[in-house]
Amino acid sequence: MNTQLLEPRDLDRAAEIIRSGGLVGIPTETVYGLGADGLNPVAVRSIFQAKGRPQDNPLILHIADATWLERYCEDIPETAWRLAKRFWPGPLTMILKCKRRTPEDLEELKRGPVCSMTHFGPRVVPDVVTAGLDTVGMRCPAHSICRAVIKAAGRPIAAPSGNLSGRPSPTTARHMLDDMDGRVDAILDGGDCQVGVESTIVDLTCTPPRLLRPGGVPLEELWDVLDDIEVDDAVIRPLEEGEKPKAPGMKYRHYAPRAPVTVIMGDCLRSAEYILEHISDNYWDGVICFNEYAHWFQEHPVEQLGGARDSWEQARRLFRALRAMDEAGVKRIWAQCPDTSGMGLAVVNRLSKAAGFHIIQV
Ligand code: AMP
Ligand code: MG
Repeated sequence: MNTQLLEPRDLDRAAEIIRSGGLVGIPTETVYGLGADGLNPVAVRSIFQAKGRPQDNPLILHIADATWLERYCEDIPETAWRLAKRFWPGPLTMILKCKRRTPEDLEELKRGPVCSMTHFGPRVVPDVVTAGLDTVGMRCPAHSICRAVIKAAGRPIAAPSGNLSGRPSPTTARHMLDDMDGRVDAILDGGDCQVGVESTIVDLTCTPPRLLRPGGVPLEELWDVLDDIEVDDAVIRPLEEGEKPKAPGMKYRHYAPRAPVTVIMGDCLRSAEYILEHISDNYWDGVICFNEYAHWFQEHPVEQLGGARDSWEQARRLFRALRAMDEAGVKRIWAQCPDTSGMGLAVVNRLSKAAGFHIIQV
């Protein structure tokens, strides 16, 4: 397959590929997504093949605005509307109950030419999107080009992050091409992603709502809208043997560069000192650190994560830094890590997973 690189002015072409069952790399404000028509089970299945993604890990459905929620969800709680009003378009995914098909729907499907019922399943969103769950993840992205593609395609776009399964998510069209060249029909270049980590996922099908993944909307901001919210344990610790995760994606190795990562948590001066004390003399140890400490590690490949207090910048640069370490060919990566306030929680979560929870507290 020859992967076309499209520009924003080609967005109608991107929408056409989606409508005809193809795969398109789409820019969003969080990371690049690997999009397909979310109502076409055959197209969605090819997302899993292109990424090498396990079939039991459901996808998020991207919609053009909150009015689309009622097409795909039922029993929508009032909190969902409040969250949508405050954070959409934006980096928030809500887990909601997926709408069941009506008898008329089912009749129409049986007459249709494309697929058998077993492909579509009993709910209006095909089982392959939701991994057969009775819930669905819904998001309205803030990237204007992305929303324009959804509108032009006239259907929701199912999309996971546009990396090969397990690798750091792509935050530029070039990074997506590095992973997906020859595996997707096109990649629409909408510039560098402004948030840099994936969406915050909140499950609204339980009481109180539960944070399943920290992301582009900080937990503190969710508290402004919700009376109560619980943070799932798996956000900051590894799953135990046999433990069933609330978001199926939690159980997989994620965001990982090729070299093993050691995360150093705690006071930033202490963590920089720890790295300096433990790093080997040779070139093959790389460092991801706050800008203030980059000059300490001049003999090594260094990626600056952002200022020690700027967790927004750290989020924006994190995946780029992990990929740059791969490009430098390092054998080991040492990474400084912020505290969990604000966007720090998402940075800690991604770094911890990239490190397989190999964390040293100083
Ligand atoms: P990605 O787009 O690669 O960031 O993956 C989407 C994430 O959303 C994965 O971690 C999934 O497990 C999670 N997700 C999607 N749909 C659901 C759902 N219905 N319930 C729980 N988690 C979900
Ligand atoms: Mg992903």
